[in-house]
Amino acid sequence: MTNERITCLIIGSGPAGYTAAIYAARANMNPVLYQGTQPGGQLTTTNDVENFPGFPGGITGPELMVQLQQQAERFGTDIRNGWVTRVDFTGPLHKVWIEEETELHCDTVIIATGASAKYLGLPSEQKYLESGGGVSACAVCDGFFYRNQEVVIVGAGDSACEEAHYLSKLCKKVTMLVRRNEFRASIIMEARVRNTKNIEILFNTETEEVLGDGQLVTGVRVKNNDTGETREIPATGFFVAIGHKPNTDIFKGHIRLNETGYIINTPGTAQTGVEGVFVCGDAADHVYRQAITAAGTGCMAALEAERYLSSVEVHAMG
Ligand code: NDP
Repeated sequence: MTNERITCLIIGSGPAGYTAAIYAARANMNPVLYQGTQPGGQLTTTNDVENFPGFPGGITGPELMVQLQQQAERFGTDIRNGWVTRVDFTGPLHKVWIEEETELHCDTVIIATGASAKYLGLPSEQKYLESGGGVSACAVCDGFFYRNQEVVIVGAGDSACEEAHYLSKLCKKVTMLVRRNEFRASIIMEARVRNTKNIEILFNTETEEVLGDGQLVTGVRVKNNDTGETREIPATGFFVAIGHKPNTDIFKGHIRLNETGYIINTPGTAQTGVEGVFVCGDAADHVYRQAITAAGTGCMAALEAERYLSSVEVHAMG
């Protein structure tokens, strides 16, 4: 096992991690960034990103991530492959293990491990997700591409209701598939969906297959789990809104997490409650989940880490 001392460790390589790296590198904190299992994060599975400010013509998700990485490297961020397997935040220096081969001793740690959208796992869903043919887990990101078209959305929680409502303002028709005979969402969110004319809610309905022409989604075959009846719904977009899983398992027991695994930060800050450990991006955000909000909180985390380091130095001098 090799040991290494690091001033500022950034875990994760989405917009939050790279933005934290840009700020930390420019503040001479010599950041080291571990990319994790999905370098570039969730945006690498997105096609066109049209809502990231500064790109009036749009940019693809993978391209945006390459540019963010290059910007972080330009100021000297040490970007490495590898993933964190264990942490210990009990000492004055925070210990982080990389694949049980390297033990890092860090003055500050910025957690930017993000979240992963949950999918149904159907082969047809995965096929059109990977090919960018009409499957999405983010209505705010991709809804615009389905203006005046008919779409289907799966889920019955607050996210599904919020996204169905968002889509209803863009699309001709939204069909919402609810697997039980009731919503999980809060009453107010459910009422909003029920009161929207162009949203049709199908209860007791599960997805059997996402249909397509090999390139693009053309519809969805669904089954009523009460009657056994199947039917095909024409649609050009298939939205999955069945929840997200924050990538925070390794922090369990080491930092405050809420009941669904999101890291609890002090509101309006990147602070986690452990001195010198900061969080940014979707690992602490189940509400906004946008690249630009992740980038914004990445900036906050780096600024707070820098202030923390300065205060520790002043303390040591005094
Ligand atoms: P939830 O876990 O609350 O809801 C997930 C939904 O997806 C449930 O209705 C569930 O069905 C359904 N589902 C899960 N797996 C499948 C499947 N395989 N097939 C079909 N349906 C499936 O996740 P959300 O992302 O909606 O919300 C997460 C948290 O974030 C919640 O606490 C929520 O309140 C909060 N939130 C708050 C918002 C706000 O206040 N504005 C906005 C968005 C989220 P079932 O009900 O049958 O289990």
